[in-house]
Formats: sequence, C-alpha cells, structure tokens
Amino acid sequence: MPLYSFVCQDCKKEFTLTLSFAELERGEAKCPECGSKNVQHKLEPFFAVTSKKS
Ligand SMILES: [Zn+2]
Repeated sequence: MPLYSFVCQDCKKEFTLTLSFAELERGEAKCPECGSKNVQHKLEPFFAVTSKKS
C-alpha cells in the first residue's frame, strides 16, 4: 500500500501512514501523536508544483 504524508492540524506533527486509497477517502487517517482526525494530507511531490491558493 502507498505511504502517505500527513500533518496534524491540532499538534502540527508530521507523520506518515500506509493507507489504501479507500481508507484515505474515508478519512481514516489519524494522528499517532494526539489521535486527532484533523489531519491534512500533504500533497505528493509530483503535485506540489506550487503552494499558491485560489
Ligand atoms: Zn496530532
């Protein structure tokens, strides 16, 4: 399964999880530090062309 990078919006810790795409879609990513599901999937380097927001 692919490895995804996340950053927790609560404790700001960065971590990686191995999730299936289905699990990722269901929002099953959870911070191992504080248990929060308020985590943001960090974009893959391939997609991280720019950080500008629309
Ligand atoms: Zn956290």
